[in-house]
Amino acid sequence: MSAQFNQHAATIYRRTDRMFAVLMVLQWAVAIAVASWYSPSTWNGADRSIHPHMIIAIIGGGLLASLPVAMALLLPGRSITRNVIAVSQVLFSSLLIHLSGGRIEMHFHIFGSFAFLASYRDWKVLVAPTLIVVADHMVRGIWWPESVFGIATASHWIWIEHTIWLLFEELVLLITIRQSVAEMRSLAVHTIQLEAATQTAEDANKAKSEFLASMSHELRTPLNGVIGMTELLSESELDDRQRRFVDACQSSGKALLKLISDILDFSKIEAGHMVLEERAFDLRLLLDDVVLCMPLQLDEKRIKLSCHFQQLPTLQIIGDSHRLRQVLLNLLGNAVKFTEHGEIRFYVHPQRLNSDEVTLLFSIEDTGIGIPPDRLGSLFQSFSQVDNSISRKYGGTGLGLSISKSIVENMNGVIGVESREGVGSRFWFTATFRRAHDNREPHPKDPSKRASTKSKTSQLDSAHISFDVTASPVAQILLADDNPSNQQLAKEIVIGCGWQCDVVDNGIDALRALDSKHYDVVLMDCQMPLLDGFMTTKEIHKRIAEGRIGSRPAIVALTGNAIQGDRQRCLDAGMDDYVSKPFDLTQLRKTVSRLLVAQHC
Ligand code: ADP
Repeated sequence: MSAQFNQHAATIYRRTDRMFAVLMVLQWAVAIAVASWYSPSTWNGADRSIHPHMIIAIIGGGLLASLPVAMALLLPGRSITRNVIAVSQVLFSSLLIHLSGGRIEMHFHIFGSFAFLASYRDWKVLVAPTLIVVADHMVRGIWWPESVFGIATASHWIWIEHTIWLLFEELVLLITIRQSVAEMRSLAVHTIQLEAATQTAEDANKAKSEFLASMSHELRTPLNGVIGMTELLSESELDDRQRRFVDACQSSGKALLKLISDILDFSKIEAGHMVLEERAFDLRLLLDDVVLCMPLQLDEKRIKLSCHFQQLPTLQIIGDSHRLRQVLLNLLGNAVKFTEHGEIRFYVHPQRLNSDEVTLLFSIEDTGIGIPPDRLGSLFQSFSQVDNSISRKYGGTGLGLSISKSIVENMNGVIGVESREGVGSRFWFTATFRRAHDNREPHPKDPSKRASTKSKTSQLDSAHISFDVTASPVAQILLADDNPSNQQLAKEIVIGCGWQCDVVDNGIDALRALDSKHYDVVLMDCQMPLLDGFMTTKEIHKRIAEGRIGSRPAIVALTGNAIQGDRQRCLDAGMDDYVSKPFDLTQLRKTVSRLLVAQHC
């Protein structure tokens, strides 16, 4: 508490020192003005000379002002500075009273000086000036009364009357200083309590976010098994009734997964852990992909989706394609969800384009239910839905738009909405990306210009490759994962694709397997006992460099930490691609196929 109080008091001392520094200079100027007003140049016969008052004003005032000004500038906030200022201030009063010929009006300067000195809120500062004023009035009143009272015949005791008035003022000032100090102390107590409460609230919030993040992570792993297995089941022979059950399981699993992903994102944003990835991607291909991902309801509802990308040049940009896709899917998904009939128009055009950067404007217009004007303001807040009946009728958590807003702001953009109830809505956002300069790798299908596996992967990504790689010799896949249900699921998917799969459950065994056999692709869980995925990958690269592993397998990270920073971490560790759990059939198949094609080009 005393630290808070002292800090506050020190601020006041320094501020008041500065105020007096200015005041001293002004008073010096006033002293010169008073001297020249009351004591102009005098004539003595043929001589004209400057009155001694002028000299006293210039030199005496300068001396009185210079020490406190220097101390206020060089030693602000010190006790010695306050006391020097206080003494100089009342000496200025004496000087001005003398220069004005002891005019009674000038005595009010003393009252003003004490009032100003009280702004220090330090009663000790008033002690020395009080003694000086009393001594000055007494000494000058007795031996030189015209200097202080303006008349040579003043009573010797008049200084006592002046002292009583001064003490009366000081009594009032002391009471005020006492109250003010008491208020400062109570403010210090409140500030400390407030800081403690804020800290507790922040800690609790952080703990909550971390709990949510770890829960979401833990939930994703078993969900991986549920969704993956039902996906495999749906590919088997089923009668209509069984297929309906499996479809229901799949759609519920996917809805649950979306919910968990939203909560994970939300908690990451709250904990300040949302990190955007920086990777070059082709904008047109991303947009095509997004449009192709649009839900089946488009057909069910007979809504038309029109895309207007005509103004869009071919652009390779650097940014987080995964997050951009997430925002677009959320806005398009909402448009589909809240539109019963009519059209959804999807516009993308460059707002600002130069050789280094591009700012894109994305806009999604629908002819849906619209949003009432009074709800527009809170739409981008977490858990905000237009009303509760919306969540009952259409589902959703009210988190999508707030997550989208955070992502867009991380992309140096803004997001907004215009809507009319019953007519439709327009959601728009801007995002700024760096342009990837023309360092594209040659097309991997051109055998004369083969590129590295990594760049081939991104090229193939752009080319919408088919999954049919079964014509090549049976691909050898090594799965390194310690979770039995993940092992089972991934193995089923791999075998279902016609590839051969060996399974190990830690990094050491993975290295042993690679020493003894050639694998085209390693599916590498990042968190494994004995040797984790990152260390294992590093060791694989070391062994390739030493010639202990003949041909380089492509390495795909499998991890439940669906955070963008992790993707980069995997790539930095030397992995070629990344699949976050729970992976689905298509995703895993697509990733492995892509790498296999790249290897055989
Ligand atoms: P949710 O998961 O509930 O859809 P969002 O944050 O994406 O969460 O959306 C919040 C709310 O905003 C929705 O519940 C809905 O009330 C409203 N909303 C969003 N998009 C639209 C739209 N295109 N038309 C009408 N209402 C919308």
